[in-house]
Amino acid sequence: MKLLLHTCCAPCSVYCIDTLRNEGIEPTVYWFNPNIHPYMEYKARRDCLKEYTKSIEVEAIFEENYGLDEFCKNVVNSLETRCQDYCYPVRLERTAKYAKEHGYTHISTTLLVSPYQKHDIIKNLGEKIAKNYGLEFLYRDFRIGFRDGQTKARELGLYMQKYCGCIFSEESRYYSHNNAKTRLLDGYNLQKEPRLQVKRIGNKEDYINMLLEADPSKNMIHKYLTNSDVYALKKGDEIICIAVILPISRKILELKNIVTKEEYRGKGYAKILLKSLCGNYKQKYEKMLVGTTENNIPFYVKQGFDKYEKTIKNFFIDNYEEEIKEGKLVCTDMIYYSKNLKKK
Ligand code: SF4
Repeated sequence: MKLLLHTCCAPCSVYCIDTLRNEGIEPTVYWFNPNIHPYMEYKARRDCLKEYTKSIEVEAIFEENYGLDEFCKNVVNSLETRCQDYCYPVRLERTAKYAKEHGYTHISTTLLVSPYQKHDIIKNLGEKIAKNYGLEFLYRDFRIGFRDGQTKARELGLYMQKYCGCIFSEESRYYSHNNAKTRLLDGYNLQKEPRLQVKRIGNKEDYINMLLEADPSKNMIHKYLTNSDVYALKKGDEIICIAVILPISRKILELKNIVTKEEYRGKGYAKILLKSLCGNYKQKYEKMLVGTTENNIPFYVKQGFDKYEKTIKNFFIDNYEEEIKEGKLVCTDMIYYSKNLKKK
């Protein structure tokens, strides 16, 4: 096998290269990432990968292409689906082309390690593009080693990026860290806000309608609600966010549902409730699981649910009467991640 491994950055390559080498596969690293902006960020990631590949003596090819214009022109009309419509295909396509022209038999990508990426879409695209070039796509679910790879990268002092790469992902990162400032700009409202409190709820059934906004099946909710604990984040007397936690063994819990009232969404309240619950439960429990759709993985990973556990294929198709959609995407698989509650 002669493998060309598309590589987006040094930290993501750590676990992938280690795993492949343990399997006896020696990859050639291929850098082609015209999505990364601004130029200093592009350069920082590229140069770090150059240093790292040199230090571990792996062959590496650097295809220079910093193209803000080209990238923006191609994604501006479909920002919501830019990853799968343009960013993944353009990188995989170029990898396959280079591989074909230079005698490689297989291609793969370090994008398969990231819980923030749309894993199944990358796999399907990789297989399709490789086939078009008469190559094989080497698929591995590297997500299982994401946390270990990132830890090792930090220990090695590699450059750790703060956002996925493109200018739009940088904008999302900015807003996710600046909610407070955005709110102030919206109305210059400097009034003191009512105090936030987390309370356990006794009358669980009264909140079914709110829970249905996150899990649209009453049947499914009833399956877990009876044996679960339900908590509310209250602002003054108003409940603004609720979470359902099911103990599944002496040491393990599962977050079954978390939902914020529509008018309070995007302001970090789910994060506050989750943080408080994890802090509470860590006295007695070791791990909290969450099963989620592909779209919501980045939110949970940011809250510390960074260990990939498993995927239940077609869960939403098999268990829900109606098609579940998030934006334009139809939800199919349930993907499980966990958080180590004891980790500081
Ligand atoms: S968010 Fe990441 S994968 Fe998606 S378009 Fe931007 S750089 Fe590419």
